[in-house]
Amino acid sequence: MKINILTQFPEMFAAITSESILGRAVQNGILEIRLINIRDYSTDKHLKTDDTPFGGGAGMVMLCQPAFDALKDIYGPQGAGAKHRILYMSPRGRVLGQDLIEELAGEGEITILCGHYEGVDQRIIDAWGMEEVSIGDYVLTGGELAAMVLVDAVSRLVPGVLGSPKSLCEESIYSGLLEYPQYTKPREYEGLAVPELLFNGNHKLIHEWQWEQSLMLTKERRPDLFEKYVKGLGKLSKSEQKILDKVLKDE
Ligand code: SAM
Repeated sequence: MKINILTQFPEMFAAITSESILGRAVQNGILEIRLINIRDYSTDKHLKTDDTPFGGGAGMVMLCQPAFDALKDIYGPQGAGAKHRILYMSPRGRVLGQDLIEELAGEGEITILCGHYEGVDQRIIDAWGMEEVSIGDYVLTGGELAAMVLVDAVSRLVPGVLGSPKSLCEESIYSGLLEYPQYTKPREYEGLAVPELLFNGNHKLIHEWQWEQSLMLTKERRPDLFEKYVKGLGKLSKSEQKILDKVLKDE
């Protein structure tokens, strides 16, 4: 998958392009992250990329010229080749969720624009048919961290990025439920013991315990997800139905 990122601060992306799982995916060529410094396209003698807003108000707004020229470099002079989705990270946008992440992971290429200061000239968004995407109801100083969140979540769905695709399906949200508690060695730490059941070797029982824990956590913390999950359940085995009934009865 190819991800073009337009930013005034490309160095910030070292955190995802050179470290850990995504760093390896970039090295192996599974992911191509092209960082485009908007400043490199400024025709201003001081390489200005922002100016004061018309109509007054505080802060600076990203100029059309450097952003348009950077996009033309990717998509051609008339934007004729702009057949990929172009996203603008913005608190005004569609709130990022697993549904959008899955849609984007199915694209071969996407482009992301990161704003800064007060945001960007509206004509950049309109002329390039950008989709505004928010990572939550709060305001960041710039779009770079938001873009990194999106890139990280999308990339882990790209085949080959994660070592074991099986782990994906078991993860919170992706499975429809929040994940059950996880434990590792040692079996006891400062008097805190791991639940005995995890050592009995009976995988069916372990799996049922994990499912029950997931159901309980989701019911308590995310009743919206719980209701959706239960509605979508198919035929259950006797033991699964017993677990579900128990969780449903538990207030
Ligand atoms: N004036 C803008 C508004 O009220 O909508 C906010 C600008 S914000 C200070 C600067 C930049 O940070 C935005 O252009 C956007 O790229 C990014 N940003 C801030 N909060 C964000 C969020 N919740 N999700 C995605 N991007 C965000």
